[in-house]
Amino acid sequence: MSKRNLSKVQKLAVESFGKPVLIFAGAGSGKTRVLTYKIAHLIKNNLVSAEHILAVTFTNKAAKEMKERVNKLVPEKESILNIGTFHSICARILRKEIHHLGYSSDFSIFDVQDQKSLVKVVIESMDIPKNYVTPQEVRHKISYFKNKLIHPDEAKKKAHLVVEKTYADIYEKYQKALVKNNAVDFDDLLILPLTIFENHPNILEKYREKWQYILVDEYQDTNKPQFMFVKYLAEGHHQICVVGDDDQSIYGWRGADIRNILDFEKNFGNCDVFKLEKNYRSSAHILEAASSVVKNNKNRAPKELIPHNGAGEKLGLIETNDEMEEADAVVNALEKEIKLQKRNFSDFAILYRTNAQSRSLEDAFRRSGIPYNIVGGFRFYERKEIKDLIGYLSLIVNPKDTISLRRVINFPPRGIGMKTVDKCVIQASMKKTEMVEVLSLPEEMGIRGKQAGSLMTFYNIIKKYNELLPKLNAGELVRALVEEAGIVRYYRESSAPEDQERLANVMEFLKSVDEFMARTPDGGLSQFLEEVSLLTDLDQWNDETNRVTLMTLHSAKGLEFPVIFITGLEDGLFPLYSALESVEKLEEERRLFYVGLTRAMEKVYLMYANHRRRIGSDELYGMVSRFVYEMPEDKLEKISFTSALTRKVVGGRPGQFTKTAVSRTVVVFDDFRVGDYVEHAIFGVGKVMALSGQGENQRVGIVFKDGLKKKLVVKFANLKKVESPED
Ligand code: ATP
Ligand code: MG
Repeated sequence: MSKRNLSKVQKLAVESFGKPVLIFAGAGSGKTRVLTYKIAHLIKNNLVSAEHILAVTFTNKAAKEMKERVNKLVPEKESILNIGTFHSICARILRKEIHHLGYSSDFSIFDVQDQKSLVKVVIESMDIPKNYVTPQEVRHKISYFKNKLIHPDEAKKKAHLVVEKTYADIYEKYQKALVKNNAVDFDDLLILPLTIFENHPNILEKYREKWQYILVDEYQDTNKPQFMFVKYLAEGHHQICVVGDDDQSIYGWRGADIRNILDFEKNFGNCDVFKLEKNYRSSAHILEAASSVVKNNKNRAPKELIPHNGAGEKLGLIETNDEMEEADAVVNALEKEIKLQKRNFSDFAILYRTNAQSRSLEDAFRRSGIPYNIVGGFRFYERKEIKDLIGYLSLIVNPKDTISLRRVINFPPRGIGMKTVDKCVIQASMKKTEMVEVLSLPEEMGIRGKQAGSLMTFYNIIKKYNELLPKLNAGELVRALVEEAGIVRYYRESSAPEDQERLANVMEFLKSVDEFMARTPDGGLSQFLEEVSLLTDLDQWNDETNRVTLMTLHSAKGLEFPVIFITGLEDGLFPLYSALESVEKLEEERRLFYVGLTRAMEKVYLMYANHRRRIGSDELYGMVSRFVYEMPEDKLEKISFTSALTRKVVGGRPGQFTKTAVSRTVVVFDDFRVGDYVEHAIFGVGKVMALSGQGENQRVGIVFKDGLKKKLVVKFANLKKVESPED
């Protein structure tokens, strides 16, 4: 392993052994790189063998990358390395140990939707006035309790107001319901291992033995349960290395506690601290702008960050009228970058504060035919048809899961109504048996005729596939199930257009099971379900294709791109209004901006709009984000932009917000014909193969060189007619 790729201090950090190690340094200083090299160093020098190392990353994607990199440094060790997120590592522990807590190892993992459904069921079973509390807010509250490791008993004791008592009561019942459903929620994944460690010292000892060296990336964003997890494991041997940057702590709203990194020495004893002070990622202008912003935070540990790279370009600042023009301006700047700097689409990331902002950007990208990937937003596995399928599978694996049972008992429609479901709930509770079991005895509940038949059919399917679990692999089972349960037939026979898309998604899901099988040949259904439920937004991001990436600032943590756009830099949007009320929240927003800026290697574009529509309200913003003023003026370069659309500002008195009226200039377009040759700024020369629409709406289908096909709106595509290259 060559350590030539490390600076002197990085090398020292890699080689430090025998004491806890804290690497506390700014963005882009090589923290993740040091962590990766450290794993390789431990293995290579026989300090700790690969199977005794545990490394924690923030996303599954980062874990996969780290595994691959370590494998490059010390080949052949990839398969036995334990690298994962806190959630995936804890899920693995629970599969083995959860029986100590009265669950069985085929437990379900409830996502946010399932949690809300369960909260709803719990609320309905209690004597609570309608609409007094919503499942949404209760779920938040429960998550808050769990992140602070507050047990239901304690929550009840601490509650003073009536509403607090209600929350605590629901929390207590919700937790019992989870156990009954043999299910855990996301927070439980982190908390239940702690309970096991606490109550079973022999099990804790086993894991201490198993993981003799622990490494944690992005340590500044650990919450209390995560900290406790690390503390339990490392307490025996103190062989631990954490890396982080307090300036990049951006998950306070989810319970992350910056004190975990600031108090590292206090918690783990005498340690080696390394401060990496050179930034290898960003050019100097960007870095200096980012540093001046974050210096406005009072609550931070001072640190130096010296640019390793040259000055580079100033940060571009672009003002636009509204979000549509902002999106056009992004496309425009991006096209120029591609043309002048010979960049690829994958060199760009467009960042925004809230997911809702992606819509206008997506529209603009689609219009101009620029390929993009969007991280987050509406996820494949959250679609109704996929959740239904997963519901079936969860129920087959874990027949106690009543949330899945409720979800799919009448899908495809079998004529089983909510009243029947309620009867089943009562019957199961009276007979002290599982809900799924009472389905097979409809007459005991006074259910007859078609409904009784439907209950039996449903029961038989679940039972049959539950028994087939050990005999079929995940792929075979899912394929047979979608046929037998009538899911494929239902969508195929439906005339609704959206059902055809749903069918296509079901097929896509089958493909994902096949991919899983190819990767994990002896993987069972419950392993597949676990993998699916632990997917994060970033895991579904395919960065291997040449596409522009769109994502929230939060998702961008740890990543880097040659060019970064930060959009929506308006006070009230970034920083969010809700953050303006407290110093802590405002400082977290500022750190988020710092994270955004420091993702860039060569160029940053900062965008703000004078007016912006927000979904569900006609709120308009008019003020440039305060963060823009926190950067030295000489690092910024104003870039003016005029859209292809002419926008006139009408009405409004001085000092008031004005409304923007959009009037489109009617441009006389080139009169394209099939067979014409045209030139596009990015794709080069191509031949028009098809035309549709007229005037404003005219679209052209073009085949560019290398067979690249694009359908473009003439108005936005900026095409130039050229001579046929064959002439
Ligand atoms: P962040 O705070 O954003 O997570 P980080 O501190 O983890 O950043 P890395 O991602 O490890 O930083 O490194 C930033 C960039 O600098 C990467 O492209 C990495 O390959 C490069 N780099 C790190 N150390 C060196 C070095 N000694 N020489 C050259 N390049 C380096
Ligand atoms: Mg990093």
